[in-house]
Amino acid sequence: MSVRTGIVRMLELLSKAYGRQKWWPADTPFEVCVGAILTQNTSWKNVEKAISRMRKEGLLDASAILNAPAHVLEDAIRPAGFYKQKAQRLKHFCTHTYFNGISQMSLQDARAHLLSLKGIGRETADSILLYAFGKPIFVVDAYTKRIYGRVFEGKDSTALSYEEVRTVFEKALGKNTRKLNEMHALLVEHAKLHCKKSFPKCQGCPLLKMCNFGRNQA
Ligand code: SF4
Repeated sequence: MSVRTGIVRMLELLSKAYGRQKWWPADTPFEVCVGAILTQNTSWKNVEKAISRMRKEGLLDASAILNAPAHVLEDAIRPAGFYKQKAQRLKHFCTHTYFNGISQMSLQDARAHLLSLKGIGRETADSILLYAFGKPIFVVDAYTKRIYGRVFEGKDSTALSYEEVRTVFEKALGKNTRKLNEMHALLVEHAKLHCKKSFPKCQGCPLLKMCNFGRNQA
């Protein structure tokens, strides 16, 4: 089975096992952007706490973030960690990103713009593009690399670059936003439930039959 066919099969098997994921967990596209910035180096649980505090303080829109004194914003997002740095990143994002402008830009231009902003790396930029603006791009994270390496290469591969993995998934799934959206969300779910960093639960894994790593464990 080629890697391309394998990725399509992976999407089918994970969808069957976990159902529709309905990502990103946010009420508005702007909230997706805030969540994507806050989730750097922390768990989603902590991001949820920070967003809930921002909501209470009326800080979930760009002008509110820009007008808020730094200490008020920092205090609201404190549960997400690195709160001083993240408060600066949020303000920087709101200063330099004309929200409606991004939706009208080409994918390449929008990505280049986001990547030019301080503190926005590939994963954050692509999460914003896919989940806030519905642009057809695949988001790669540590979970994706782990599962990809184990299934197709039979090992935890550290050599894979972000762009390499993104390109392989996009070739397999095409410019289909719904599939790209679901695939990333399903991989996150799968990494949490089965393909854990240490001691993956290969028994009962929906990908076991196609996984080189899992088959070698049996
Ligand atoms: S079989 Fe094991 S290593 Fe392979 S995807 Fe499943 S949990 Fe991960």
